[in-house]
Amino acid sequence: MKFVADKMLGRLARWLRIIGQDVAYGPHLSGHGLIRAARREGRVILTRDRSIRKMNPPEYLAIESDRFREQLQQVVRHYHLDPLRDIFTRCVECNSPFDPIAKEALREKVAPYVFSTQERFSFCRRCQRIYWPATHQQKMLEELKALGF
Ligand SMILES: [Zn+2]
Repeated sequence: MKFVADKMLGRLARWLRIIGQDVAYGPHLSGHGLIRAARREGRVILTRDRSIRKMNPPEYLAIESDRFREQLQQVVRHYHLDPLRDIFTRCVECNSPFDPIAKEALREKVAPYVFSTQERFSFCRRCQRIYWPATHQQKMLEELKALGF
């Protein structure tokens, strides 16, 4: 599945990326811009904007809640996503899937303490961000488990 989230849904977009979903998101994505992006890239629209149905949109899901936890639960349930299967496989910032990379290739790119204490890294070639499990991924996992995933 590929999604495009309207500009009101930034937190939802980030959480969907955390669980590995392909989500386009940006401040320009509302109204007709949202619909154009969905058509161009074959994406399902996620929106809080009820007026979208008057704009002859392609497939969309009207997000009910304004709280991101309930939003995430709605999307996961509606599309039968498996949140833990593809978790941490995609860059939260730019939506690119991670490329496999050998730890050694990152020696000069992360702090020595991080390099010596972490074994698994994820690298985004597009925006050059480097991720590792550490505490924030643990917190995200706990958050998802608290949601019943
Ligand atoms: Zn990236």
